[in-house]
Amino acid sequence: MSERTLAIIKPDAVKKDAIGDIIKMYEGAGLRPVAIRMMRMPKPTAEGFYAVHKARPFFDSLTTFMASGPVVVLVLEGKDAIKRHRDLMGATDPAKAVAGTIRKAHGTNIEYNAVHGSDSPETARFEIGYFFPEMDLVAR
Ligand code: ADP
Ligand code: MG
Repeated sequence: MSERTLAIIKPDAVKKDAIGDIIKMYEGAGLRPVAIRMMRMPKPTAEGFYAVHKARPFFDSLTTFMASGPVVVLVLEGKDAIKRHRDLMGATDPAKAVAGTIRKAHGTNIEYNAVHGSDSPETARFEIGYFFPEMDLVAR
């Protein structure tokens, strides 16, 4: 079933000039961008996006990191996009990510781990709507 998921190329990966490589990995896995936006995420925007993690000890550090530099926010479309994108990203901790994953290639540590990906259809719906109005999603 064709699905859409939200991806973010985080500030650490943008800083490393890895945008092109990461988008190439999405496309190589059959995850086609249907929306792309580069932005600086204000801290309150990062806090709203990661609201589910509000109680976690790393919440302040994580949202400060996400607001620390430009990010690229994308909507990816493809068959079973949510799970296949999570598989392509690799484990949250790049040290545990297997070869061939984005986090293995570009992540630095468990916090600066290069990319974000929605983890369920409900999360994907919320996260896509958080950054993109419906009319910004192109048909392909
Ligand atoms: P994922 O991004 O793999 O879905 P989580 O949803 O659990 O992981 O966490 C959201 C983000 O918070 C992670 O991508 C990472 O940037 C950061 N994070 C997760 N766990 C930790 C931790 N133990 N210490 C610092 N940052 C963390
Ligand atoms: Mg998550």
